[in-house]
Amino acid sequence: MTERAQAIRNVVIVGGGTAGWMTAAALARLLGGTGLAITLVESAAIGTVGVGEATLPQIRRFNSLLGIDEREMMARTAATIKLGIEFRDWGRVGDGYIHPFGRFGQEIGPASFVDYWARAHARGMVAPIGQYCLPIMAALQGRFEPPDASGTRQPYDYAFQFDAGLYAAWLSEHAQSAGVVRREGRIVDVARNSESGAISAVSLEDGAAIRGDLFIDCSGFRALLIGETLETSFEDWSNWLPCNRAFAVPCANGGDYGPYTRATARAAGWQWRIPLQHRVGNGLVYCDAFWDDADAAEALMANLEGEPGAEPRQLRFTTGRRSALWRSNCVAIGLAGGFLEPLESTSIDLIQSGILNLVELFPHTAIEETDRREYNRLMDLEFERIRDFLVLHYVANQREEEFWQAMRAMPLPDSLSARIEDFRERAILPDYADGLFQPVSWISVFLGQNVVPRRWDPRADAMDADELGKRLAAIHGKIADDAAAMPLHLDFLERAGARY
Ligand code: FAD
Repeated sequence: MTERAQAIRNVVIVGGGTAGWMTAAALARLLGGTGLAITLVESAAIGTVGVGEATLPQIRRFNSLLGIDEREMMARTAATIKLGIEFRDWGRVGDGYIHPFGRFGQEIGPASFVDYWARAHARGMVAPIGQYCLPIMAALQGRFEPPDASGTRQPYDYAFQFDAGLYAAWLSEHAQSAGVVRREGRIVDVARNSESGAISAVSLEDGAAIRGDLFIDCSGFRALLIGETLETSFEDWSNWLPCNRAFAVPCANGGDYGPYTRATARAAGWQWRIPLQHRVGNGLVYCDAFWDDADAAEALMANLEGEPGAEPRQLRFTTGRRSALWRSNCVAIGLAGGFLEPLESTSIDLIQSGILNLVELFPHTAIEETDRREYNRLMDLEFERIRDFLVLHYVANQREEEFWQAMRAMPLPDSLSARIEDFRERAILPDYADGLFQPVSWISVFLGQNVVPRRWDPRADAMDADELGKRLAAIHGKIADDAAAMPLHLDFLERAGARY
């Protein structure tokens, strides 16, 4: 037996939503050889949150770590390809841009492409930046082809829009075939060690007690262990991200296989549209201080582009996170740890980071303070970076409504105000060596919402203007040709054997 197996033998996962089953499948696959026993408890009577259809490209890495065949996963979960998110009406009504999973332009000299673009833009001699990005041009034409390894096309990545319930069910099969034990039932009591305060067992309604050494709280917004039991405080970030309610409703697909998610700004929030193979997921996220429920539901239903498949369902939330995601012998993953609203589809990605950080810091002998501290530091950073990026969407607006005016006037986190000023003044971008949103993401939102640099890298001025015009036109033409040569997304799904 390994040292690890002697110390932490029993892991109990509380909750069988996307977070619970992703955690179970990953732990079984990545730590399965260490003698770990994994039990997952879920309650059909309580159910899951039932939303969460749009993902980020990192999910592909997760699937591949689990040995999941991507095309089979697509067929099982009614998935479509996602090349980015289209933001409509966010800067001003009528504006639109796509935040792509790719890059803009290519290297044309010592300055970055965005510096050359900013110089040309200031002289009115350049197309919108999105036209220099292959996944954007493909998305707008409803086309898709996997990235080209030969290097002849601009590189890009992609994610999926899928039925999260089917994804969790599929992972549940993977996890159980890798040895995870599933227990059905409602947890009614949590026992703690009288000296250390650590959780020792959870008890079900039928009286069964499930003992564990490490507990993973995937119980959703209820935060049964990290919140209710361990009383870890919740850091409320509503002052920066005030939207606190949503209505969700599916509608008929009607032949829309657009390989991207859409987020349209509305009077006091925004509306999502996520085309899957068997339906389109829709929802309206809003702030109840500016929009009452009935008006918000009406706005959602009035803007559906298809026959509704159900009545709109309301969800309530508070944006923020637990002050510690790993406390005592409990790690919170998923909604139990925090929620930053679904604007950039970051929740499933945060689940993934939570799992992978846990795997890397999994206790060797006993749970050490060092493991917890490092885990919490990494997750705090991830949450804060995502928060700043989301806030940028709200603050960089020029809309008239009261909600949007209030968003413009909000006091920003220090980390964000400097970043906006740096870009506006001189096209300086955050230098993240790692982390979720890289410079391309920031460029998309800045330029898409009219934060345009006043100055740029002076090396971009060194190129002769005609030469710059020619180079930009050549890149533009090549990207347009490459996008037009791709198959339609639907044809790709057929050919790849990825139809639901
Ligand atoms: P849940 O799905 O709520 O699962 C909780 C589990 O705990 C359930 O199995 C439940 O039965 C169990 N449980 C709870 N209490 C008990 C108990 N006492 N006993 C036994 N079992 C119990 N994420 C994205 O990445 N992309 C998106 O597009 C996206 N859109 C969203 C839109 C909205 C409006 C909201 C609110 C969220 C969205 N999310 C999105 C987030 C996403 O839905 C969640 O991150 C994801 O579903 C994971 O949820 P979870 O597993 O943490 O919780």
